[in-house]
Amino acid sequence: MSRSSNVAVIGAGVFGAWTALQVRRSGRSVTLVDAFGAGNTRSSSGGASRVLRIGYGSEAIYSEWAQRSFDAWQELFGDGRQELFTRTGVLWMARPDDPYTDETIETFGRLRVPFEILDRTELDRRYPQFSLGPVTRGVLEPEAGVIMARHAVQAVVRQAVKQSVEYRVAAVTPPTDTGHVESVLTSDGDQITADAFVFACGPWLPTLFPAVLGDRIHPTRQEVFFFGTEPGDRRFAPPAMPAWVDFAGGVYGLPDLEGRGFKIGLDHHGPPFDPDLGERLVSDDALQVARMILARRVPALETAPLLEARVCQYANSWNGDFIIDRHPDFDNVWLVGGGSGHGFKHGPAVGEYVAEQLSGRRAPEARFTLEAHQEHRERGIY
Ligand SMILES: Cc1cc2nc3c(=O)[nH]c(=O)nc-3n(C[C@H](O)[C@H](O)[C@H](O)COP(=O)(O)OP(=O)(O)OC[C@H]3O[C@@H](n4cnc5c(N)ncnc54)[C@H](O)[C@@H]3O)c2cc1C
Repeated sequence: MSRSSNVAVIGAGVFGAWTALQVRRSGRSVTLVDAFGAGNTRSSSGGASRVLRIGYGSEAIYSEWAQRSFDAWQELFGDGRQELFTRTGVLWMARPDDPYTDETIETFGRLRVPFEILDRTELDRRYPQFSLGPVTRGVLEPEAGVIMARHAVQAVVRQAVKQSVEYRVAAVTPPTDTGHVESVLTSDGDQITADAFVFACGPWLPTLFPAVLGDRIHPTRQEVFFFGTEPGDRRFAPPAMPAWVDFAGGVYGLPDLEGRGFKIGLDHHGPPFDPDLGERLVSDDALQVARMILARRVPALETAPLLEARVCQYANSWNGDFIIDRHPDFDNVWLVGGGSGHGFKHGPAVGEYVAEQLSGRRAPEARFTLEAHQEHRERGIY
């Protein structure tokens, strides 16, 4: 059977799902296809929860995109907001000489993002659950919070389907010739015909397009842990506990949401990871590191039982910038990825940007092009 639309979006993670919705809103017909289904466990968008913060140091474009995306998420969630977003606040933990935090404060001021600066005394008073060690100050984004990731992506797809996006589960074989692509083949033998094809396949992109993305996107194994609190103890749930980031310490944490446990994530890039075949059992080494951090940072949870753990993958570009560009060998194939461990919150803005690129309504941002990704080799965006 052959299906035809203006735009085919391959991959229904947060980037592809929002791209399908935003392209549809711009008036084009859309087919959205995913090999395992939206928010599947293997995908980078398939975790329980993701932090939505606005702070990005001096990288104002990401702060602006996060602000715009924040509004779009809220609008999408509508009456179901309570279930899909919790305004936990996000606390940045900072050490004395920390230019990233200073730049974040500066950007907040410019973009009128609500924030509070907390000195060490105030931090200790508000958050006695933490033992803050070298942290001398904090910056709190009181409006920021946590999105229930898997369910949120599925909500985006439901909304897209409501607006007549055709959605289906199948794996798509990437095109191999060069020039103009008329159609792509699915695992169930269908042809999908479209004027443009957007591959938003997250950590699968380097395997699907090895010549162009093999050296530009590096999936790494990342581990997160959920620890159990004492019965009836609300110190580690909102509103007492915010989401928090300590990038200098390579760690971030989320309060206990849905009774799932206090979440610790290790942000340092792990070893290379295959999203299809990688076993998702956490390593003893990573568990020990998480326990060490817990003992140091949240002493009351030092001996807390591990309730759940997950292995996910970041799809890292060299510096953390997204990659959104036309494939150099085709005039109608687009590549969208490189979420680099911070992309979830930006789904709406990424989708909007791709829709504008497809219609030629916006000039490309140099930093997202394939060309820009040849030279940068330092992680700079968190
Ligand atoms: C542990 C962890 C914590 C994170 N924390 C945060 C956070 O707090 N805040 C934040 O903003 N971001 C966070 N991120 C990053 C964020 O989750 C990712 O940047 C984002 O989910 C990437 O989405 P994506 O759509 O690019 O990829 P994915 O979600 O991986 O989607 C790609 C989709 O493509 C499909 N696919 C692949 N190949 C094919 C094919 N051939 N045919 C059809 N379909 C195909 C897959 O099935 C998949 O569903 C975190 C990531 C991880 C792993």
